[in-house]
Formats: sequence, C-alpha cells, structure tokens
Amino acid sequence: MERLMRLLAPQTAIGFCLRFLCLIGLLASASGLFHHFIEDQSDGHLVYFVLHSFIVSGPLVAFFLAVTHFQIQLQQNLWTLSREDGLTGLYNRRTFFDLTTTARSKKKAGVLMMIDADRFKAINDTYGHQAGDECLKSIAYTIKRNIREDDIVGRIGGEEFAVYLHASTLPQARAIGERLTKPISFSTDATGPLTVTLSIGAATTNPGWTIDDVFGFADHALYQAKQQGRARMIVFDEIEAVSPTNGAA
Ligand code: GH3
Ligand code: MG
Ligand code: MG
Repeated sequence: MERLMRLLAPQTAIGFCLRFLCLIGLLASASGLFHHFIEDQSDGHLVYFVLHSFIVSGPLVAFFLAVTHFQIQLQQNLWTLSREDGLTGLYNRRTFFDLTTTARSKKKAGVLMMIDADRFKAINDTYGHQAGDECLKSIAYTIKRNIREDDIVGRIGGEEFAVYLHASTLPQARAIGERLTKPISFSTDATGPLTVTLSIGAATTNPGWTIDDVFGFADHALYQAKQQGRARMIVFDEIEAVSPTNGAA
C-alpha cells in the first residue's frame, strides 16, 4: 500500500499533470467499456467519454492527488522527526544505536566515541538555557566538521554525543579526539563569546566484543576521562596504560 501511495503521490507540478491525465484516461476507458459491454451500446465517442470523465471526475481526481501528495510529505516529515534530534539535527539516540549496530555488522572494525560536554550544567546555570542550547549546536557542528561524511554521529542524551568512525584505526580516532578536546567557541547576543570542552571515551569495535560491550567500554573510558580532569580522550583499549591523549584540563 505504501508503495502504491508513493507511486501515486505527485512531487512536482509536471508529475501532478501526468498522473491527472493518466487517471482521467483510465476513467474515460472504464466509462467507454462500461457503456459498450454492460449497457450494450456502441454509439459512444471517445471524446465524449474523455470530456465526461474530465468534467465529472476531474475535481475528484485532482483532490485525490493533492491528498496523496500531502500524505507522503507528512509521512516524510514524521520519519525525519523520529530519527533526528530537533535541536542539533544529528541522529537521535535510537537511530544512532540502530545505524551503528548495522554498520558494525557490515564493515571492518571501527571506533566508537562517547562524548560528553564538560561542566555543562554550569553553563546553563550561569548563562541560561538559551546559551546552553547554542553550546549544544556548536558542539554538534564541530563534531560534524571533524569527521567524514559517512561516519555516524548522534546526540544520545542531554549533553552527550556519540560518533562511530567507520573502518578506522585508533591513531585516526586519536587525531580526531585531539581536535575535539580543544575548547569549542559559542556565543549568544546576551553572553558574548564563551567556550566549552569535551571529554571523550573511545573503544575499537573489536570483533570479539558485542556491540553492547563496545558501548559499555567506551562509556567506561569516558568516565575515566572525567575522573582525570576532563577535556581529554581516553581509549578503552589502552586503559591499563591510562594515557590521556590530551593533557589540557
Ligand atoms: P560533567 O562535566 O561531569 O559532565 O558535568 P555536567 O555539568 O556537564 O553534567 P550534568 O549531568 O551535571 O549536567 C548536564 C546538564 O545538561 C543538566 C541538564 O539541565 C542539561 N541539559 C540536558 N539537556 C539539555 C538541553 O537540551 N538544553 C540545555 N540547555 N540543557 C540541557
Ligand atoms: Mg552527561
Ligand atoms: Mg557533561
């Protein structure tokens, strides 16, 4: 049914006209066949049936096409809303986890990064919620700018983000981590320029680990990053050595 709706729903004015003419043609043919076989009359003219269908059924067909168009648009908007975070435009938690699970099962090992804004509550408390929202948007923008187009990034909680780097190695993740743990600027008219830092926990998607393990390990590494003073990335795989990639607190 959904396929049929998609096929019928016009996306452009030309699409609308083409579908309108096709449907009117179908109705005119059905009218002609009815007249010929059921009413058993053979005196009807094609022009008559086309005109009849156009005048009698045209408004109804046009209305039907308009409704299918809006129905499909609405469906697309709802689909987008159900997958995205409204504030940052990143994937929401559920979508991020779904996409990461699928990507991990298909591709070579990657790296998962759990990211948390440092002392974010203080930004809200000191400068207000609007400043907090601007801060979240800047973080989202900065993360996107530092990863590849096909890497997966989501906002998985209030001031928590996550990134899945496809087919990536730890040195590549570390380079990204170093850029992301530098202070990120944001501002509002009321506050002027401010900065925020991020703490990151990373783990490779080792084939011997389940995806839940990987999330747990990255989370554990993030906890370590907070414990060690924030504004740094800790890699779970190296946790024994406990060597922050960025010493700046
Ligand atoms: P830490 O460095 O340990 O992570 O401290 P923190 O202050 O960042 O962490 P905490 O969990 O104490 O505070 C998170 C705050 O994020 C609390 C909540 O009010 C705020 N928050 C959650 N979602 C939003 C949002 O959508 N907008 C804004 N402005 N604030 C949010
Ligand atoms: Mg948090
Ligand atoms: Mg935080």
